[in-house]
Amino acid sequence: MSIPSVTAGTPPAAIVTGPVRALLLRWAHERQPRETGGLLWGRRPDTSTWRVDGVRELRDRAATPRRYRADPREVWRYLAAPMEGQGTVIGMFHTHPSADPTPSSVDSRTMPAGFLHAIVGREDRGWSIRAFHREAPDAPVEEVRVHPDGRRVRTDRRRAAKGDR
Ligand SMILES: [Zn+2]
Repeated sequence: MSIPSVTAGTPPAAIVTGPVRALLLRWAHERQPRETGGLLWGRRPDTSTWRVDGVRELRDRAATPRRYRADPREVWRYLAAPMEGQGTVIGMFHTHPSADPTPSSVDSRTMPAGFLHAIVGREDRGWSIRAFHREAPDAPVEEVRVHPDGRRVRTDRRRAAKGDR
């Protein structure tokens, strides 16, 4: 499916710190061929920015190569009691061990509003991480550009790959 890009305002961006990125890639690799997933901690300093500082895998013993589901009781436990020093739960992630990191139709249908959704999936040269969100339950799913740790990278929405300063 196609993911519409944002048409107005600042393009949404997720800053993913190095340790979080490393864990996401490691879990995707180690759990293959099954999916895995979990929660993302951090801050959302403004509506178009997420800063992901922490991550926790929530194992699903019934996961398959195409299905992962976090235990809702575990999710609620962490939503209710944030991890010390890591901000609050701002999103979730899951892996696509044999597909690219774009939301499946089920992902899009079930994506809760207001959270960042990172997907670790297969692309040409290995694993890559993309992120998505919807602002309201009936809003379309939009891509959130993932930046490495550090400064916010300025991007032109249509020509993001080259010419960044
Ligand atoms: Zn998925």
